[in-house]
Parts: sequence; C-alpha cells; structure tokens
Amino acid sequence: MNEKEKQNSKNETKKKPEQMNEKSDEEEKKLESLRKAGDIAKKVKKYIKPKIKVGSMALEIITDAEKKIKELGGFCAFPVNLSINNIAAHYTSPIKDDGLKIKENDIVKLDLGVHIDGYIVDTAFTIKFNEKEELENIITATETALEAAKMMIKPGVNTREIGKKIESIIKGFNFRPIKELGGHQIERWLVHGTKKLPELGSQGGDEIEQGDVFAIEIFSSTGTGSVHSTNSCHIYSLNPFAGRVPLRRKSSKKILGFINKTYRSLPFAERWLADEFQIGVAFGLQELIRQGKIETHYVLSEESNAYVAQSEQTVLVTENGYEQLT
Ligand code: MN
Ligand code: MN
Repeated sequence: MNEKEKQNSKNETKKKPEQMNEKSDEEEKKLESLRKAGDIAKKVKKYIKPKIKVGSMALEIITDAEKKIKELGGFCAFPVNLSINNIAAHYTSPIKDDGLKIKENDIVKLDLGVHIDGYIVDTAFTIKFNEKEELENIITATETALEAAKMMIKPGVNTREIGKKIESIIKGFNFRPIKELGGHQIERWLVHGTKKLPELGSQGGDEIEQGDVFAIEIFSSTGTGSVHSTNSCHIYSLNPFAGRVPLRRKSSKKILGFINKTYRSLPFAERWLADEFQIGVAFGLQELIRQGKIETHYVLSEESNAYVAQSEQTVLVTENGYEQLT
C-alpha cells in the first residue's frame, strides 16, 4: 500500500462506525477508563501513605507518587499536591527543590489526580502528626462530611442541598468549611467541570444528572474559612480561550507545542517541563503567561496559624445513586 492508499483505508474504517453502538461504545470506554483511573488512584494512595512521615521530603513523596501513577499505566491529571498546615491547596514541588520537609505537628494533605485518555479521577486524604486537642476531630469532620455528602448523590438532587449538609457537619465539629474551595464536576480533559459541589449551603448549586462525574471535596479549617493566593506558583495550565499570540522566544513556541500535545488543558508542573527541556523553561513560561496562553495556579493559604484538613473522592452518578471510583 502506498501512502495514499493507507490514508484511504484509514478513512474507510473511520467512515464505518456501527452507528447503533457508537454511543454505548463511548459510554463503555468512559466507564472502563474511569474505573481504571480509580483503581490506579487507590493503589497509589495505599502505596504513598506509609511514606508520608515526619522527616520525609515533600519532593520525594510527590515525585514518588507521580512515578507510581505512570508505572501503573495512568497519567497524572495534575501535579501531585502536598499541602501542609495552613496551606490548603496547589502546592507541588517547584522546579528547584525548596527542601520542604514534613515536621512534627504538621497536618499534611496529599491530593492526586489520575487520567486515562482524559477520563479523570481526583482524590485526597489528610495525615496528622499533631496531637493538639483542638485538632483531634479535624480529619473525622472532613471524612464524616464527605460520607454524608456521598450518600446524597443521585440524579435530580441539587448540589446546594449537599453543600448545606457539608457545612452543617463541619460547623458541628467546630471547624469551618473553606468558601473558595469545594467539590466539582469532572469532565473529560477538565478537572473542574461546569457544575459545582460547594461546601457551604449559600453558594448556589447545580442539578446532578446520571453519568456526571463529581469530585466530592471537603476542607475543614481552624482558621477563617477563606484562602488567599500566596506569591508562589508551581502549577500552570493552558488557557483554552486564548487565541493565537505572537511569541518571540523559540523556547516558548516549543514549550507551547509540547503542552498542547501532552497536557492539553490539564494542569502541569514547571518541574515536569524541566524534565523535558533542559533550558529556557522559566523564560518560555514567563512569555506564555504574559501573552495569556498559560494560566497560573498559585498556592492557596489560610491565615498563618490555621490548620486545614482535606478529603476527596470521585464518584460516577448512576441511575439511582453513585459508584465510588477512588
Ligand atoms: Mn483534588
Ligand atoms: Mn478536586
């Protein structure tokens, strides 16, 4: 076969999908991919938990978990996050190791995402090395709220009702939910989908439908219940709405091409780019950010003396309820 014939025969096969089964084939693929991603996420959590202890280096835990995801046949849906104490989310190791270590009295959240062909699961847990009485129930609070929220998942329910429940449970334990954070729908190639699953009852809501994938995500805080952006940023993602922009640097163009192909609109670490490109990562990224092609995800922090716990599981909404994937 010459090139043209090859091309034609490819088109032939493409032109003849079994129309009747097309939809269910797609559903089948979605289900299979989500379950596989969920399975990997479960295994990675089990693998990484015992490695999270006082004295462990953040960089080692993070890269170890990311490596395990790939070893098991998955892809990272976003850089593994390891957020300590008042840091609520979006910390991953920077391009140049900052030496971050787990210390006595820390509360550590590990948040990981796995995808298979763009079908994503998102899950997180908290480990506590602090015996302070004030913090005794902080993990129980987040896990109890998560379990209660999960039980409410089924088609027709508005997520506002679930938000109310989550809020009342966390407050019942004398902690605060974090108003800027919470659960969310997950769509293909999109970690934060259209629908929200807030952890406060006053933040509106969306109707749950069969086939939706939701990350039920709970934060309990001893602080104000609000986070702010710090000035550290180690996670980025492509801005899918930015059109063509002029790029002066060769490295920017190369990096953009790589991101488009490899991560699409999923978040990535500057660290990952450094593994791929020996030079020009920092300047290239800077230009892409300046031109609006790349979005920044700054480390999010509660007030300085606060402690934050997090737990998160991904579920698929079924006809009468849900299937837990992670
Ligand atoms: Mn997460
Ligand atoms: Mn999430």
